Amino acid sequence: MLTYGCQMNEHDSEKISGMLTSIGYEETDDENNADLVIFNTCLIRENAELKFFGKLGEVKGLKRKKPDMLIAVCGCMMQKEEIRQKVLKTFSFVDIIFGTNTIHELPSLIYNAEINKKRSVDIIDNTELIYEDMPKQRKFKYKALVNITYGCDNFCTYCVVPYVRGREKSREPIDIINEVKALAEDGYKEVTLLGQNVNSYGNNLKNGITFAELLYELNKIDGIERIRFMTSHPKDLTDDLIRVIKECDKVCNHVHLPVQSGSSDVLRRMNRKYTKEHYLELVNKLKKEVPDVAITTDIIVGFPGETEEDFQETIDVIKKVKYDSAFTFLYSIREGTTAALMENQIPDEVKHERFDRLLDVLYPIVLDKNQQCIGKVYPVLVESVSKTSETFLTGRTEHFRLVHFKGSEDLIGEIVNVKITNVKTFHMEGEIE
Ligand code: SF4
Repeated sequence: MLTYGCQMNEHDSEKISGMLTSIGYEETDDENNADLVIFNTCLIRENAELKFFGKLGEVKGLKRKKPDMLIAVCGCMMQKEEIRQKVLKTFSFVDIIFGTNTIHELPSLIYNAEINKKRSVDIIDNTELIYEDMPKQRKFKYKALVNITYGCDNFCTYCVVPYVRGREKSREPIDIINEVKALAEDGYKEVTLLGQNVNSYGNNLKNGITFAELLYELNKIDGIERIRFMTSHPKDLTDDLIRVIKECDKVCNHVHLPVQSGSSDVLRRMNRKYTKEHYLELVNKLKKEVPDVAITTDIIVGFPGETEEDFQETIDVIKKVKYDSAFTFLYSIREGTTAALMENQIPDEVKHERFDRLLDVLYPIVLDKNQQCIGKVYPVLVESVSKTSETFLTGRTEHFRLVHFKGSEDLIGEIVNVKITNVKTFHMEGEIE
């Protein structure tokens, strides 16, 4: 299974794996020996789309050698009619297509393709239904992804998500609480609550629960030591939520708060529903209430019509907020969105030049924030053996900083105290205390 895109997709892949395991499949990294190859696709940026089509083309040769091998494509791209038609017409070797709302149908789609030798396609554009209790084959044994909402109602003008994942719907609190309790019983220490906008959790539920109230409930669950959430839309970040971050010991002092642009004019055209001033006010409130809070963000460079002055507003926000880290993106046209039709698309060379200048401002700030950690001791959840050295482990602090340190494999899944001795822009190094 090849998964592209965000944590939402990663978690969908865990459900797909869970279902396949329950009907007798075993996961393999070696596509040459696979009986079934699944692409879980992403539509958020052009890059992910191109990568998928490249890889799909490669698999054609494999299918020729092994005609019984099934090829399935799912995820956000398949929710879009034009792309689905392109796959159906151009890639005739694809056997199964399903969408983000029909994951639970996969076993019967496989049956249809394998036994009835029929191409199986199952897509639902929008649905109120939430399928609970799907088996999940989780990637990690100590940290877990937990959906709390699906879909999105915000229609940011650059984004395809509301069109492909449908309107926002929240899971019932009891289902979320039970899932997290079960995870705690299985030894999980950290949960990340997932939603396109977790702050609007509960809006469509009859019981009137808010995201802040849900966090209070989850904070009571024994065994869980860290609660993370993403993504937080600034327009819906409430004082109650800030209070929860401050008061609930398990809720991590880390907020991923996508700013996207520092220009109020660009934000209006992005349909983000907040201004630069409001965003900075929220950040100040967060820093005042939770002094050691880490704030990370997403920034889009080169949105249609972005002037040099608009860009400078973004630079100004970076300097004022002093982000702990940021995901930075070049704006790319997504067909079907309002921004795709806007005039004044920014030439690539201007986007790239602004992007480089933005990183020149951002990276020293991130490094400086990391340098402030030197000599301090942080609890680190050990995630894996380091990719670069077998004797080193990798983990994350509450603030989502990546730390490498010497240690033995049996510490994976434990929370250990690590003293920071050296830092780089993207990671820190330390020693177990
Ligand atoms: S909040 Fe905006 S950017 Fe995020 S998923 Fe919804 S429409 Fe897309």
